[in-house]
Amino acid sequence: MRDPISFIRLEYEDLVQSDLDWRIKVLDGSSTPWSIVNGKKVMMLCSNNYLGLSNHPHLKEMAIEAVRTHGAGSGSVRPIAGTMDVHVELERRLAKFKDAEASLVYQTGFAANAGLIPQLAGKGDLIVSDELNHGSIIDGVRLSAADRAVYKHCDMNDLDRILAESERHAPAYRRILIITDGVFSMDGDIAPVDVISRLAAEHGAMLYVDDAHGEGVLGEGGRGIVSHFHLGRNDVHVEMGTFSKAFGVVGGHVSGSEDLKNFALNKSRTWLLSGSHPPAVAAACIGAIDVLENEPHHVRNLWLRTDKFKKGLVQAGFDVGNSATPITPVMIGDSGKAKRFSDRLFEEGVFALPIVFPMVAKGKARIRTIMNAALTEEDLDLALERFERVGRELKIV
Ligand SMILES: *Cc1c(COP(=O)(O)O)cnc(C)c1O
Repeated sequence: MRDPISFIRLEYEDLVQSDLDWRIKVLDGSSTPWSIVNGKKVMMLCSNNYLGLSNHPHLKEMAIEAVRTHGAGSGSVRPIAGTMDVHVELERRLAKFKDAEASLVYQTGFAANAGLIPQLAGKGDLIVSDELNHGSIIDGVRLSAADRAVYKHCDMNDLDRILAESERHAPAYRRILIITDGVFSMDGDIAPVDVISRLAAEHGAMLYVDDAHGEGVLGEGGRGIVSHFHLGRNDVHVEMGTFSKAFGVVGGHVSGSEDLKNFALNKSRTWLLSGSHPPAVAAACIGAIDVLENEPHHVRNLWLRTDKFKKGLVQAGFDVGNSATPITPVMIGDSGKAKRFSDRLFEEGVFALPIVFPMVAKGKARIRTIMNAALTEEDLDLALERFERVGRELKIV
């Protein structure tokens, strides 16, 4: 008789054997520059809460008030009876913030990519994707019946070659969709979206940019990558993002034309068939937009801290790769060594996680740090001192 279920334990044990299983650390209380993690007070250098908005009093107040006026849940999916005035208001405010005709909010960024990408390109179409794109894009592409091509990371010659070859395809492709992350989450480098949009225009392709790590970080007042490159709505057709990172809450979204919104909400199965945000979530997201519009110092501080930290790491002799954003990888190479580095940092009061295969290539293990605007100069001096100490100990610098 076949044993239907024992594989789940065996596969898990394999992961543990190869040191590839997740051992989840738990925050006791809120995500703040210094957080209690597994019972220990540590400096937070691996949260996506770049601006500290997850714990901002205005966002908390907005969420609490929405619970009082609208309840704990929405009661339905958006298209049936789950669209409340707060959801509509959030989309209006986001479109205004993004200087777009319209925005549509999904439950998560993952749901936006998984729901929309397979609708934008299908049988007879081609999707062209950067090799380091986020897993939610990869899954969105897998749900599509379109042909796929992957170009070398940020390599514009390779993208150009693929687009040129695609024109010789018979029968001719109906549509071509180019997809890229704006900021790459493992390296902190920025996609050359200005060049990509020019190539897209030359080949009559749609351009979809996932700006999850650019929002609240890049561009004027944190407006994101389209603003960073001074591009227009005809350059980037779908600007996708999330409220789960610098905005400090949760929720995915796409911005673009009114046509895009109408198309996306009628076709994305993740949007049509999954419950809408509790009103507190939508209200807190509105609060995050308020803060970005009214308190520009958060984004400014984020960049001041980022510059100081990167310079300090380089001065200490660390290799920080091609990072151009508050995501700064500290290259280690060997995955065992990266794990030891992270464990030692944690003992020294600094929380930064190792990124190892399969999230990055073998031999490219690193400690990924993410800056937090609310850390002080003294905090950063301390972090740099601890990095250097552990780096010497493990003979990395
Ligand atoms: C985090 C992330 C997502 C997923 O966003 P969620 O809203 O957390 O589901 C999608 N794309 C990229 C590039 C990301 O970094």
